[in-house]
Order: sequence, then structure tokens, then C-alpha cells
Amino acid sequence: MPEMIGFLKPRQAVLDRRQEIVADLKDLLPKGCLISEERELKPFETDAFLAYRRLPLAVALPETTEQVAAVLKYCSRYGVPVVPRGAGTSLSGGAIPQEDAVVIGLSKMSRILDIDLFNRTATVQAGVTNLNISEAVSADGFFYAPDPSSQLACTIGGNIGMNSGGAHCLKYGVTTNNLLGVKMVLFDGTVIELGGKALDAAGYDLLGLVCGSEGQLGIVTEATVRLIAKPEGARPVLFGFASSEAAGACVADVIGAGIIPVAIEFMDKPAIEICEAFAHAGYPLDVEALLIVEVEGSEAEMDAMLQRIIDVARRHGVTKIRECQSALEAALIWKGRKSAFGATGRIADYICMDGTVPLSQLSHVLRKTGEIVAGYGLRVANVFHAGDGNMHPLILYNINDPEDAARAEAAGNDILKLCVDAGGCLTGEHGVGIEKRDLMLHQYSRTDLGQQMAARAAFDPEWILNPSKVFPLEGRPAA
Ligand SMILES: Cc1cc2nc3c(=O)[nH]c(=O)nc-3n(C[C@H](O)[C@H](O)[C@H](O)COP(=O)(O)OP(=O)(O)OC[C@H]3O[C@@H](n4cnc5c(N)ncnc54)[C@H](O)[C@@H]3O)c2cc1C
Repeated sequence: MPEMIGFLKPRQAVLDRRQEIVADLKDLLPKGCLISEERELKPFETDAFLAYRRLPLAVALPETTEQVAAVLKYCSRYGVPVVPRGAGTSLSGGAIPQEDAVVIGLSKMSRILDIDLFNRTATVQAGVTNLNISEAVSADGFFYAPDPSSQLACTIGGNIGMNSGGAHCLKYGVTTNNLLGVKMVLFDGTVIELGGKALDAAGYDLLGLVCGSEGQLGIVTEATVRLIAKPEGARPVLFGFASSEAAGACVADVIGAGIIPVAIEFMDKPAIEICEAFAHAGYPLDVEALLIVEVEGSEAEMDAMLQRIIDVARRHGVTKIRECQSALEAALIWKGRKSAFGATGRIADYICMDGTVPLSQLSHVLRKTGEIVAGYGLRVANVFHAGDGNMHPLILYNINDPEDAARAEAAGNDILKLCVDAGGCLTGEHGVGIEKRDLMLHQYSRTDLGQQMAARAAFDPEWILNPSKVFPLEGRPAA
């Protein structure tokens, strides 16, 4: 299939030394922690941005920070690019390797190191899954708030790489709002610590810079995160509308009225049908758009907030309101929403956009998105974090049809530009990766990007860390 997005040309000097590099890395790692056979490299050739793939030179699976440091020290010495990898669920191609790169996978570093309920923190290795953290503290009445739909698989290291969000981030914030500290290995093997258990650190907010840096500033090996006390109760409520525009306008007015529920998730009719067929969650099939609104707190608090939301929804002609009656019903409602991407994958290949828009633009952008995708002769299902204005049009196509794939990518680019032009941005939570790299100049001036690249170069002057991603290939400083 012809590729629309280019990768960096592999460094020939690295390819020529492949055997030697593999042998040297084997010496640095315990037995079984270096993969170099083509058959075993296959699972690492792509991530959840499936249209692009490259076999890496080798995959290192270190078990300790010291081993990560040893591999990075070696790679920087010989100019070998490095691609950090958690679970490989990136939707923007952030973890896709290149032919001359060593992938450093954190999957063997999956221990919870410390749970400190007094300070409400957990310190974990980077390969711990997002859901594992909440599971580990659930019996004590706590949870870790950012909840990507991929939370069963994705790692805290990947969440930090992408500054990931999730349905419940409307109230609790995304990864950066819940991250307190990291241990990180720099490109040359130096180990640093940023932040700690306290809420703020002195000096520049380097932790904020690292969160969302897509594996380009260093490899996180440990993270300390905030734990949140579980609310007294939580209740998802379904609101059905006769049009996507009405649902979008309702979201804007709820937030505009100063009402912040825990979550406001949006599904249009195609998404409702896809998710209902998979999860049997009881979503209404006779509406054009659905909002899942979750309120939490005591019964009285939930009732009061819900009443205010219902009042706003009525002004937008809500046609159906269903309050969930049991924990089982609530679990099914969330199962349907959180399985949306997987359920869509049952009926078609898809690429998932991630633009974010000001809420006042939601209805307009939803309508234009439909027009753009239809203009390319394709179909779209919309399911997204509406309260944050973080849109996820899933453009359905056939990955084995090159023309279809090119149309899907072109439609995606048009949608992302639309989001930027509407006052929003290219990515709400999935990161730039390779997917949106070449659109960065639509959002930023060359001067803006130059400053960002200078910050990156201060951490990694040789650009060996995940070099094909985030910044357009043209206009980079010479390494
Ligand atoms: C079905 C599905 C649903 C999803 N839902 C959501 C959602 O609701 N919200 C959301 O935000 N995302 C979502 N995602 C996207 C994805 O799960 C997130 O981006 C996630 O944080 C990636 O974690 P990972 O462990 O798979 O990281 P990877 O995909 O392996 O890597 C992601 C990026 O982080 C870097 N990285 C990984 N580990 C480290 C480390 N230890 N140190 C430094 N850099 C590192 C990588 O180089 C890469 O750039 C979804 C994906 C899928 C497939």
C-alpha cells in the first residue's frame, strides 16, 4: 500500500552493524530479554495505528531501570534510534518503530512499588497497566482517575507518553493532572527524578513537559500518581436526542452553566448501533444521538445535579432520558462505551481522529465532519468525550484497498484541520505520533515548533529518541 506519511531514512551505518548491535545488547540484558528474530519482532512492527508498520532492528525488554540505562547509553554512543513502547495501543502510531531502531519495551517492569494511602499516592513501574492501579487500591476505597478505554492493556508509561485521558477526565483531569513524579532515563543513560509525592515541585515544571512528550525526552521507568477517594455513589444517565447537533449544543450549555458531571460521552446513531450490538447495554436505537452523563456524590447531590442537567437537556428537545437502576446496568452502559473502538473493529477497519474543539463549536464541527467523510464516499461513527470537546470520529474504510485507505487518511486530515480552524487542536489525548506529525504546521508556526524542538533537543541533542514522530521531518535542526 502506498504510504502517505514518510518515516526518517534509516541510518545505514546502524543497519550495517546490526549483528554487532544485537550481540552487544544481548550482553547488557538478562537471558531472554533481547528479541532479534524476524518472526518474534513481528508483534512489535506496529501499534493500534495499523496502517503503518516497520520491523525494528531489535526489541529490548529490560527488567530494571539500570538495564534501561545501559541500553540507552549503548544506543546513544553508537547513534542507534530508540523507540520506547508500553502496550503498543497508541492510536497515532507513537510506538511504531523504524528499521534502524531498538524498541525498548517496558512490559517486564510491571510491579507496583508502593501504595501510600496516607499521602494518597501510588508508585509503580512504567509497565503497570492503568487498570491495575485502580484494582490495587479499590478495596481501600480509592482509584486512579484517568481511565482510557484501553485501560485493561495500556501502561502508565504509555499514558504519560501520550498524556492520556478517558471518560472520567472531565472532572478529574487527564494524566498530567494526576501525575506527581517520575524516574526517567535520559538518552545517554543518565537517571533523573522529577517531582515526588508532593503536589508541586520547585523550579520549572519539567514533569509537565515530560507528560505528553511521546517518548522523546527520556524513558520513564517509574511513576508516582495521585489516588482519589471513591465517591459515595455514581450514576450514569442516558439522554437521547433527535439530532447530533442538538446533543452537541446540550453539552455546551451544560458546561456553560457551570455544571461539571464526572463524564459526558457522546455517541451518534452509527456508534449507538455498533456498541449496542456488541454490549447489549440497552442504548435506545430510536434516537440520532446519545449522551451518557455520569453524576456522582451522595443521593441528594446526584439528584440535584441531574435535575439541572435535565432542565438544560429539555431546552434542547431531549427525546429520551433513562436513569440507570442498578450497578449491573451501569456496568453495561460503560462496557458499551468503553468497547466502542473494538466493537467498530468488528464491522470495518477504522482510523480514529482525536481533534479537540471549543464546546461552542461542537455542533458545527460534528455537522462538517459528516459532510467531509461523505464527500470522500466513506462512513463515520462518532463516539467521544463530549464534555472535554475531544472528538473521535471513527472513519470506516477497508485497509486492504489502497484507494479507500488514502481517502480515509485525507478525510481524517481535513477533519483535524477543521478542528484547528474552529479554535481547537490536533490532539486531545492520543498524541501526535506519526499520524498528525505533518499537520503540526497547520497548528503551529515554524517559530513555535522551533521552540518546542529546542526543548526536545535539550533532553536529546542527537534526536535518537522516537525520532520519526511529532515534528515534521522538514525544518528540523541538524542532529
Ligand atoms: C481500543 C482503544 C481505546 C483507547 N481509548 C483511549 C482513551 O479513552 N483515551 C486515551 O487517551 N487513549 C486511548 N487509546 C490510546 C492509547 O491506549 C493510549 O495512548 C495509551 O496511553 C497508550 O499506552 P501504551 O502503554 O499502549 O503505550 P504505547 O502505545 O506503547 O506508546 C505510546 C507512546 O508513549 C511512549 N512511551 C511508552 N512507554 C513509555 C515510557 N515508559 N517512557 C516514555 N515514553 C513511553 C511511546 O514511545 C509512544 O510514543 C485507546 C487505544 C485503543 C486501542
